[in-house]
Amino acid sequence: MKVLKFGGTSVGTVESISAVLDIVKKSFDEGEKPLVVLSAMSGVTNLLTKMAEHAAERLPFEDDLKLLEERHFEVVKKLIAVKFQNPVFTKLKLMLNDLEEILQGVSALKELSAQSKDLIVSFGERLSNYMVSKVMEQYVAQVEFVDASHYVKTDSNFGNAHVNEELTQQLIQSLGHSHADKLLFVTGFIGSNEKGRVTTLGRGGSDYTAAIFGAVLQASTIEIWTDVNGMLTADPRIVKKAFSQTILSYTEAMELSYFGAKVIYPPTMIPAFLKKIPIVIRNTFEPAFPGTTIQFESGKSAFPIKGISSISDISVINLSGSGMIGKSGFSGRLFTLLAREQINVVLITQSSSEHSITFAVNPDDAAKAVSLIEAEFELELEANKLQLPVVEENLSVLAIVGENMKRTPGMSGRLFYALGRNGINVRAIAQGSSELNISVIIGKENLAKALNAVHDAFFAALKKTLYVFNVGTGNIGATLFRQIREQHDFLLDNNDIEIKVVGVSNSRKMFFDVDGIDLEHWSESLEASGEVADLASFIERMRAMNLPNCVFIDNTASKLPSTYYEDIFKANISVVTCNKIANSGAYAQYQLLRETARKHGVDFFYETNVGAGLPIVRVLKDLMLSGDRLVKIEAILSGTISYIFNNFVGEASFYETVKQAQALGYTEPDPRDDLGGVDFMRKMLILARDAGHALEPEAVDLGAILPKACLEASSVDDFYAELLKADSYFNGLKEQAASEGKVIRYIGKLEEGKVSIALEMVDENHPFYALSGSDNIISFTTERYKDRPLVVKGPGAGAEVTAAGVFADLVNVGA
Ligand code: ADP
Ligand code: ASP
Ligand code: MG
Repeated sequence: MKVLKFGGTSVGTVESISAVLDIVKKSFDEGEKPLVVLSAMSGVTNLLTKMAEHAAERLPFEDDLKLLEERHFEVVKKLIAVKFQNPVFTKLKLMLNDLEEILQGVSALKELSAQSKDLIVSFGERLSNYMVSKVMEQYVAQVEFVDASHYVKTDSNFGNAHVNEELTQQLIQSLGHSHADKLLFVTGFIGSNEKGRVTTLGRGGSDYTAAIFGAVLQASTIEIWTDVNGMLTADPRIVKKAFSQTILSYTEAMELSYFGAKVIYPPTMIPAFLKKIPIVIRNTFEPAFPGTTIQFESGKSAFPIKGISSISDISVINLSGSGMIGKSGFSGRLFTLLAREQINVVLITQSSSEHSITFAVNPDDAAKAVSLIEAEFELELEANKLQLPVVEENLSVLAIVGENMKRTPGMSGRLFYALGRNGINVRAIAQGSSELNISVIIGKENLAKALNAVHDAFFAALKKTLYVFNVGTGNIGATLFRQIREQHDFLLDNNDIEIKVVGVSNSRKMFFDVDGIDLEHWSESLEASGEVADLASFIERMRAMNLPNCVFIDNTASKLPSTYYEDIFKANISVVTCNKIANSGAYAQYQLLRETARKHGVDFFYETNVGAGLPIVRVLKDLMLSGDRLVKIEAILSGTISYIFNNFVGEASFYETVKQAQALGYTEPDPRDDLGGVDFMRKMLILARDAGHALEPEAVDLGAILPKACLEASSVDDFYAELLKADSYFNGLKEQAASEGKVIRYIGKLEEGKVSIALEMVDENHPFYALSGSDNIISFTTERYKDRPLVVKGPGAGAEVTAAGVFADLVNVGA
């Protein structure tokens, strides 16, 4: 025989009750003779509690009563044939009248005892079970409604009553005998004390009822039917990637649910555990899915932990003082006191010096705990052997759980790394000696972020999500979005990386979507729904969204975004940028950014600052990290200048070559912006700094290409006029080079800590001799690459390759 328990969400609507009927019928048809336990319709327990509290305040409850009636009547109307409806309406109405009378009594007395409250909420389960049993009667003969308060006997701890096992067992056994051939619908959640007053077993207690009946009646399994696919690795409302576990041990399930996984009520495990009856958690809305089996053995798993659970609201009390040191009875006294007063202690840690003790309680209990402690330890407080207890509020507990942790070192390391990297401060730590659970206390505002980050860290074989905030939607930004969109499936399938662009801004508008902006229509979304752009508030929003694995991308050419990098790092957000400004300003700024990023454990990637998508920054870094020693860098890092000198050969005049480069779109509107060499200078400066030289921009010896008159011309037209005049100068250079079998190149050099950029003539033995088109080239001469330098060459400009470089940086974040 099986026990089938359906939670509130499974009996919340006409549709869900239909699904329940199918499941019960199927089980019945398969000859399993199930015993069914139902919760109240979803939301009804809360509604009844509210009505009771309103009545006690003489606030109106009639509308809620009406609502309760309507929800049940609707089910009857839709699921019971008209000819059978009347007696059901009558019985429900009678129950509702009883309820109304009780509420009126509460209202008259203006008093709500725990006992009356239990009686009031017990109507939820009684109404639903009676009603659904009547629906079922249409399909199966011998259905019977059972009010469990006659069978589950408890003490008088209303609201959270303890079950008298012996008595309960006898009563259920005799029910089993006398109703052996019946299909029973049993109210979850409720019992009664020795005087027959209705009690409840604690919120979520219907699961417990199912386990109690299952244990006494020797069920083969206890199935808990709910609205998710089993016990998931984390709360699915917070962690979207949570997935269902196939098998958990009782202890694992207990730990997970004790720390907040609402899907099963922890005491449920005990009766099942004692009789070794498996509990299976299944989804009413996806009945074909096998769900999670909770059994004796924990079972193999590919992952070191089984799940992450949390309690979102907790208060922490800290006690310190010399009076505790070496006093073996101290914690005994403290926790006996709290237990006696029914204050549940969620977690305890004590420093090894025994100078302080920290424990977590439900926020509602904190004030009471403090006054109890102050009374109990009055003498110690007066003698200054103890400091007054200190309460900290707005905290959460996060716990990783799993039996495999015992055999796997490095679990806490992984936990703390994930938290630290995301800027989450840990206030207290506790590990149970069973090593089944490591718990940390963190600020409540960080809980969602922490759960997601830790989930990513432990279920690494699952996809990692990078959350991207991008400023700049010009050529590079737009191309990057297209590349991310095109690469989405590949990254997910082959690298388990998902990129979600959640914020976009250009100089006019900004737009956010935490679920990920549709990258096919980002531009329309930005236009249609975007707000007026404001970088400060863009960054504030990014910070407030508090997402894990978060990356800020600067695809602009303006200075403003770089002024925020430091703050962005401080918010534990990585930065990827093609913008050179931050790295090529004052050295102190360059230094500060690196230090800040390192301190906060985030990445600062800017491969595209030098040579667009060509791997240059990375190669230099790898050379340095692997202990090679840089002797010299030579480079041509301006595609425009490269193009001009590669084409300034044979009959061509310099003037014509520049004109042509401009016509082909290779130059800035004012070609002097390229030919002046400032951009090249910035790239060389960044490389020199990355190679370990603390240089300021002024230290670069920037040799001019253009004669003074060209540089000083007041307009672009004037510039060209001057350039025409300079043709003979350039022709002279060209002829000289040709006569020596050489070509002219504008080459940047880093040697002995000095950076210079100058026109040079190189012969065919030089690696830069054969450069063509607008290619960039760089050669690294190092101790290892001494005789033949390491050369990187290729297109060093263009939206496609630059965006690809930004993209490569992005997927390397956090790697
Ligand atoms: P029922 O009404 O069926 O008793 P509950 O609301 O008590 O359902 O529990 C089911 C809910 O528990 C799910 O809808 C889910 O949102 C929540 N939940 C929280 N943590 C977990 C978890 N680790 N695994 C599964 N569900 C969880
Ligand atoms: N109806 C009760 C509650 O909402 C019991 C249960 O659903 O398990 O807590
Ligand atoms: Mg429940």
